[in-house]
Amino acid sequence: MLEFSYDALPGRIVFGRGAARQRLAGEVDRLGSSRLLLIATASEEAKARELLTPVADRIVATFAGVRPHVPVAVAEAARAMAAEVGADALLSVGGGSTTGTAKAVALTTGLPIVAVPTTYAGSEVTPVWGLTEGERKRTGTDPVVLPRVVVYDPELTVSLPAGLSAASGLNAMAHCVEAFWAPRRNPISSLAAEEGIRALATGLPAVVVDGGDLDARSDLLYGAYLAGSAFAVAGSGLHHKICHVLGGAYDLPHAETHAIVLPHVLAFNAPGATSAAARIGRALGIADPVAGLRSLSKRVGIPTGLRDIGLRNDQLDEAVALIEPAVPADNPVPVTTVALRSLLEAAWSGEAEEEKP
Ligand code: NAD
Repeated sequence: MLEFSYDALPGRIVFGRGAARQRLAGEVDRLGSSRLLLIATASEEAKARELLTPVADRIVATFAGVRPHVPVAVAEAARAMAAEVGADALLSVGGGSTTGTAKAVALTTGLPIVAVPTTYAGSEVTPVWGLTEGERKRTGTDPVVLPRVVVYDPELTVSLPAGLSAASGLNAMAHCVEAFWAPRRNPISSLAAEEGIRALATGLPAVVVDGGDLDARSDLLYGAYLAGSAFAVAGSGLHHKICHVLGGAYDLPHAETHAIVLPHVLAFNAPGATSAAARIGRALGIADPVAGLRSLSKRVGIPTGLRDIGLRNDQLDEAVALIEPAVPADNPVPVTTVALRSLLEAAWSGEAEEEKP
């Protein structure tokens, strides 16, 4: 018998090839904004400006000081600029760091965000913000940071190099897979997740072979949208908790860590989440979803073990101790210290030990 609760998130999505150039002005009109603060990294600014010609007369200033993980000083500088120029909306063009900067401004000013994503991070459809002070990253949820409009244009992602495309796409894959057992999962987030896995698995290998393949770019961006939507609603589970600790404590690369750990968490959880595993397998087009994820990562050039990206074996016990307090209580399979240690050991070595029945 079905029983669930679901907070549907508002927000308008405009998706299509050429959408940024052709439809953005209309979207800004719908919002009634006439004083936009453009937020883009210095390297993306020229591309953004060219693309934004139809709304150029409404851009009153550009903030190009975007930095990864939104340092507080960056957030404050962007807020000061928004106030100084009297912005009535924020236009972010870039990856998760750029969207994150716009969210930091929206958090304190309430200004609406028009987001034009150029990676597969998915932040543009979540109400989650993050700010970094020194080494510490704080995150929170506030509906005011959820972009009002998201314009997805696959053409903008063509310049994303193969390595970044693979890592970013697999990070989106992790959002989808985890959405099946994350704390606020529901039938709608699972639907989005399943379709997201299908789209990502179709687009990823093709984009790595030919970054200019616009059909594949479209599949990936659509998958990234669904991944962000599922993640926004379902929240994060065991996989994200593990990756958060590993990234924070050992400075491992974010997306590769996700790609390496994901098949191990799926292998671990599958016995307690058989219907999720079957749906993930169906979306990947393979009976064994663990093998499917592994083979996808391999095809797009992701290393197999955490040892290949800088984690030492003598750090595993400490990692287990750091992860344990964050483990979600309703994980489909109980997470004992021994089980967590063995999951991490397998992810470290890259050997599929835990896949045996
Ligand atoms: P990013 O925004 O830092 O971009 C990575 C690099 O790619 C940058 O150098 C950027 O300039 C470049 N780049 C972006 N688009 C490009 C393009 N089309 N062509 C060429 N280069 C391009 O990284 P990201 O992976 O997009 O985002 C990661 C950040 O987003 C992290 O801080 C993460 O915590 C955050 N995030 C937040 C949420 C949320 O819900 N709040 C969700 C996912 C990710």
